[in-house]
Amino acid sequence: MARYIKAVCRLCRREGEKLFLKGARCFTEKCAVAKRAYAPGQHGENRKAKLSNYGLQLREKQKVKRMYGVLEKQFRRYFEIASKSKGVTGKVLLQLLERRLDNVVFRLGLGISRSQARQIVRHNYIYVNDRTVNIPSYSVAKDEIIRVKVKEKALKKIRENLELSKDRTVPSWLEFDAANLMAKVVRLPEKEDIQQPIEEQLIVELYSK
Ligand code: SF4
Repeated sequence: MARYIKAVCRLCRREGEKLFLKGARCFTEKCAVAKRAYAPGQHGENRKAKLSNYGLQLREKQKVKRMYGVLEKQFRRYFEIASKSKGVTGKVLLQLLERRLDNVVFRLGLGISRSQARQIVRHNYIYVNDRTVNIPSYSVAKDEIIRVKVKEKALKKIRENLELSKDRTVPSWLEFDAANLMAKVVRLPEKEDIQQPIEEQLIVELYSK
């Protein structure tokens, strides 16, 4: 799968808020948003134009897409699935993003960023209901059990990640047994579980034009 490989802090600065794309650094004073709270580029500091309605919708979509590390085509596909579902489109869209296996690994603190969590999944370290799943976009379902099964060297790294993530709260839709590196999906995620402000209605409006 294609993915964004350029400097990720630029993405946060462009959106004017922390998207937590870089792991441990995001929680320190070295964070680029904390140091330079304006858009990147030569004229970023002076660019304070008021956004149109379309501009607001576009920025919100870009922010969420970047936060979850999903490219446009896949993001659009999530929207199409959400809009055809019986539920409220914006809510289902957020659920689909949140249920991604790489996001779950990140939320549990097994990876310190979503991109690192994606690597952990790709390296066959994650089992869902006792079967290896190495597809980061895999969508977890209620009652599924997620386990980490790795050799000693990788286990050390995962334990380090847990230590670095210890101040982050595991959302209540996941029941985590950190000692045994095992989690259960006790319910589907709600918007309140996401911990970052998202105005999903703006995204729905953008794609519904
Ligand atoms: Fe974003 Fe993290 Fe870089 Fe801060 S350190 S700008 S939160 S990626």
